[in-house]
Amino acid sequence: MDVAEDVAADAPPAPVVAVVGRPNVGKSTLVNRILGRREAVVEDVPGVTRDRVAYDATWSGRRFTVVDTGGWLPDAAGLAAAIAEQARLAVELADVVMFVVDATVGATDVDEAVVEILRRSGKPVVLVANKVDDQGAEADAAMLWSLGIGEPHPVSALHGRGSGDLLDAVLEALPEEAPRETFGAEGGPRRIALLGRPNVGKSSLLNKLAGETRAVVDAVAGTTRDPVDELIELGDRTFRFIDTAGIRRRHRENQGADFYATLRTQSALERAEVAVVLVDADEPLAEQDLRIVSMVIDSGRALVIAYNKWDLLDEERRHYLEREIDRQLHNARWAPRVNISAKTGRHMDRFVPAIDTALDGWGTRVPTSKLNQFFADLVNSHPHPVRGGKQPRVLFATQAGVRPPRFVLFTSGFLEEGYRRFIERRLREEFGFEGTPLDIAMKIRE
Ligand code: GDP
Ligand code: GDP
Repeated sequence: MDVAEDVAADAPPAPVVAVVGRPNVGKSTLVNRILGRREAVVEDVPGVTRDRVAYDATWSGRRFTVVDTGGWLPDAAGLAAAIAEQARLAVELADVVMFVVDATVGATDVDEAVVEILRRSGKPVVLVANKVDDQGAEADAAMLWSLGIGEPHPVSALHGRGSGDLLDAVLEALPEEAPRETFGAEGGPRRIALLGRPNVGKSSLLNKLAGETRAVVDAVAGTTRDPVDELIELGDRTFRFIDTAGIRRRHRENQGADFYATLRTQSALERAEVAVVLVDADEPLAEQDLRIVSMVIDSGRALVIAYNKWDLLDEERRHYLEREIDRQLHNARWAPRVNISAKTGRHMDRFVPAIDTALDGWGTRVPTSKLNQFFADLVNSHPHPVRGGKQPRVLFATQAGVRPPRFVLFTSGFLEEGYRRFIERRLREEFGFEGTPLDIAMKIRE
């Protein structure tokens, strides 16, 4: 696994161009032409499933992902229904649809039906008049104006004729380059929420961190007269600790009121990028610890778990702790762990690396083609169990966002819980995602 090379963290997602059309109009040949290499295998047998569907392409310096929908839905009832379904799917997942028609055949009823779907979607469509191998066939292409979805672009996917002009037209139809994610992009320090139930050592840790390094740089004034956050220098970087007022003041306050503690935690999470949940290593995990961890996961923030008061542990407790973590924190197994002592300063140097790891995982983006290669392999080696005579498949997947990584899986049926968990586990094995929850949504094509 070489994540550094394969995963472009924080790069904006490449727009998706889906290629739609009846069998044998030349979709795969066209995809090959666009890629400039013979990668999309052209099948001689129509309807044969092609597992790999998404490819990275570049034209005039612009990156996009080409999706060949040719091999999908082999079991749909009837050609017309299958193509219609394919078109709907393409419209849903693509930024631009390339609709390929065989100009030597002309527009068929099935083509007309597809046009209806495409037109209703409002998605930009580039009409491809394929198999225009020479000047003489240009007239065939012109006939396709009759479809009423704009200019037919005459090409010969086989020989390359007209493909440059076609790609220019595709680029023109692509959405503007997406702006970079704005979350935390103000260029300021990374934002950390220090969470944990009363007495786990939050303010001790805060003091230790602030004291050991070159002290508190600044107190950031909030809307009230209390400083709300603190900027603390760790190593040679400054971090913003969220709601330190809450942490420090709780000493003077009555610590009761669970409800307010929860509110506080929630609002701190809202402003944070990464949460460090402090747990008292010397005590059994409490309900409240688990609840706080769940709140972080639900909020979609990066997570580090810090076991504090490590200085108090004896051998027996240490041994028991490992089992406890495994059993009770299984939903956060991916979170980096640091075993620290705010009292002695043990492992304070591990604090920042753990935070960096979690923030990296949180911002990781997997290119669409890598992701689909991954799913093609997964579906082959570990297919979903057959249910009621059907076997749901992942047809196409895309990462819709980062911070946290969000995935949308287009599937041919409902993926059961166990299989989705399996997918998440394998995604983590393959691409890392240490310290971040993953959001995996499913779009089912019946
Ligand atoms: P798909 O089913 O739509 O993916 O179609 P294919 O790419 O598999 O092509 C179907 C057949 O049409 C193959 O035999 C191709 O060689 C042929 N073909 C594709 N593009 C062209 C073209 O531009 N001109 C000619 N003459 N044949 C083509
Ligand atoms: P908070 O309520 O989460 O802010 O917790 P405090 O920082 O006030 O700590 C609660 C108690 O635990 C205090 O008596 C601290 O001195 C003690 N404490 C905090 N961290 C450690 C630690 O690493 N080791 C030991 N032995 N005691 C600690």
